[in-house]
Formats: sequence, C-alpha cells, structure tokens
Amino acid sequence: MTKTETANVSATMDQIQRVAEAGADVVRCAVPREQDAEALKTIVAQSPIPIIADIHFNHTLALKAIDAGAHCIRLNPGNIGGPDKVAQVAEHAKAHGVPMRIGVNSGSLPKHLHELERTNSVEALVTAAVEFVEMMHRLDFYDFKVSIKSTSVPDTIASNRLLSTKIDHPLHLGITEAGTKWSGSLKSAVGLGTLLADGIGDTIRISLSTFHAEEEVKVAWEILKALKLRERGPVLIACPTCGRLQFDMDTVVLEIEERLRAYDDPIEVAVLGCAVNGIGEASHADFGIAGAKDMGVIYSRGEPLRKVPTEELVDVLFEEIDKYYAAGKKVVVDEAQAAAGAALLAEIEAESAGDLTPERIAAMEHAASQLDEAESPVAGRRFQRA
Ligand code: SF4
Repeated sequence: MTKTETANVSATMDQIQRVAEAGADVVRCAVPREQDAEALKTIVAQSPIPIIADIHFNHTLALKAIDAGAHCIRLNPGNIGGPDKVAQVAEHAKAHGVPMRIGVNSGSLPKHLHELERTNSVEALVTAAVEFVEMMHRLDFYDFKVSIKSTSVPDTIASNRLLSTKIDHPLHLGITEAGTKWSGSLKSAVGLGTLLADGIGDTIRISLSTFHAEEEVKVAWEILKALKLRERGPVLIACPTCGRLQFDMDTVVLEIEERLRAYDDPIEVAVLGCAVNGIGEASHADFGIAGAKDMGVIYSRGEPLRKVPTEELVDVLFEEIDKYYAAGKKVVVDEAQAAAGAALLAEIEAESAGDLTPERIAAMEHAASQLDEAESPVAGRRFQRA
C-alpha cells in the first residue's frame, strides 16, 4: 500500500513504481478526500500495476474512485454508512465491472457482535465476515474477495481457517498494524506463512511501520519464496556462523544480498563461514563461497570452481555468476582453478577432520537415529526417539 498522500501524484507514482519494481502485483492507495479520488484518474493511467482504492466512511468516494478507473475498491461494509450505501457502491462497481475487497477489522466489528467479541473474538470476526458476504449476495454482487484483519496473529490464523470453510470467495491475508520492519515481518511470516502453508489465502499484504512501501513487498516475496509458492530472484542461503567463522559474515552476506537484487533468475547462492565441512549441506546451491583462513573457495553445485583470497571472495563470486549467464546459464569451469579449489577444500577438511562442527554433529545424530541407537555418538549430547 502506498504511504503518500494520493493527491500528491508525483510522490504516489514514485512509490507505485518502486513497489512494482519490488514485485507487487497490485497496489492500494488511500482515498480519504475528494482530491485523492480525482488524482486516481492520472494514477490509474500511469501505473504499471492495477490500483485498488482504499475507502472508509464515505461511499461517494468509492463511486468517484470507480469513475476514476480504479481497478478494485476496498471497503468495510460496516463503516460505510449502512446497507443502502453499500448497495450503491455495489451497483456502480457491477456496472463498471470493478471487483471489490470487503473487509472486517478486529477494531471495528458491528455493535451486535461486541458481546461475542469479548467471549470469542474469532467467532465474532468470522460471523461479521459471513454477514457481509451474505449482504453482498443479497445485492447480487459476487465479484469480491474478503479479508479479516486482526492485530492478533492467533486470531488471524484461526479466523481465516474458519472463514475458508464457510465461504468460496478468495481471501486476502494480512496482519494489521504488524509493527516495525523487524517484528512486523516476523509476525506476518508466522501468521500468513501458516495460512499459506495450509493453502489458505489468495492475495497478501505485509503491513509495516515504514514509509518505504517496497519493504513490505520484499517481505511478502520472502514469505512466498520460503514456502516455494512463487519464485522471484535469487535465494540466499547462509550458515548461522560459529567460532570457526573465517570472515566478516555480517558484511559479506549483506553485500551479497544487495548485489543479488540485480538478478531476476531464481538461482540459489550459499555463503558458508568456513570450509571445515567442505561444501556440506549447501552443496546443491548454484553458486557459493566457503571461507578459509586468508583463502576461500568459490563453488557451484557441489564442485569447487576457484581458490580466491578472502577479500576477493564476493567480487569473484559475482564474476562467476556473470560468466554463467554470459555462457547461456552454463557453469564455466577452468580445470586448473577448480583443482586448486578442490585441493584447498581437501586440505581444510583433513586438518579439521576431528572437529565437531554443528553440521557434523547433526549428520552424526541423524545417522545414529537411522540406526536406532539409543544414544548420540557425540559424548554429552543425548537424544531420544519420539
Ligand atoms: S562450522 Fe558451519 S556454522 Fe560454523 S562457520 Fe563453518 S559453515 Fe558456518
């Protein structure tokens, strides 16, 4: 959702451009005043993605937004001034072929549900949503999706799960007023991720307290990518680091993440803080780096490509990625350089053969569990089978 005054067309268009570039499929603009509805005419004409007009309290703004060409109208039937006003908007939307998103917010449930809300907030949210759906059906309007928004993650999950069993309309998911970039992203990932993993949800919006709307889109993509629901751009894998770390991982990972934004392909890139485990669990990555003292290894799909001084690892990683694209998505291998990389890996692995790294402990415990052994092979680390 844009955070600008919609009537400020240049600022709004600038933000729409940025969310579109970040991968938004649709964008919502607040329309609280006449001048915002008026500005929609230009915005709709210039926007590279469909515009949803966000309307509260004033149904005439919804009518004007439809006239201005908005691709969708979002309104909460409960706060628009009664069923007659909802009917006027529905009729106008239908005449123009404009779909709607109707919503229920935990903070603005109809009065007759306030008592139920106190005893069962989920039931109250779902009852309100179903009542609004029935109202739209009575108005012979069916072209809409439904959202239940709550600041509570458990209520959002429970109410959408319940609602999905009661109606056939698409559902829009979001955690309202989720918070800052850090906490809001986590809340959204837990709430929306749980529902999406259940197969519930058709559109999503991440609400973060930031003026930079594109940050919300980036978080949405990370959730979709993590669940493998959509692919967009590279996937970065990074080890959690430990005392064996051989370079400034924080800086390196951030730099790689930033530079990967220039690529559209869903390649997987791994960053391992050390080469003690060889390429280990990240061997499937399309490209990766594994740090070592002074020198590190660049690898691709489990095979070393080059041995490189630590301070050049990031630049050389991108050199190799660019060579791959220049060769038509073919990994380019220089046999001599690959052999030097393999020798360094072998050397490090031999030197650290006895080290119990987190990955080796996990692998040993996994092996032990497969053998149905009662005790971990690692002294002091016991485990129990379920
Ligand atoms: S041992 Fe594993 S977690 Fe520790 S720095 Fe090396 S790759 Fe990262």
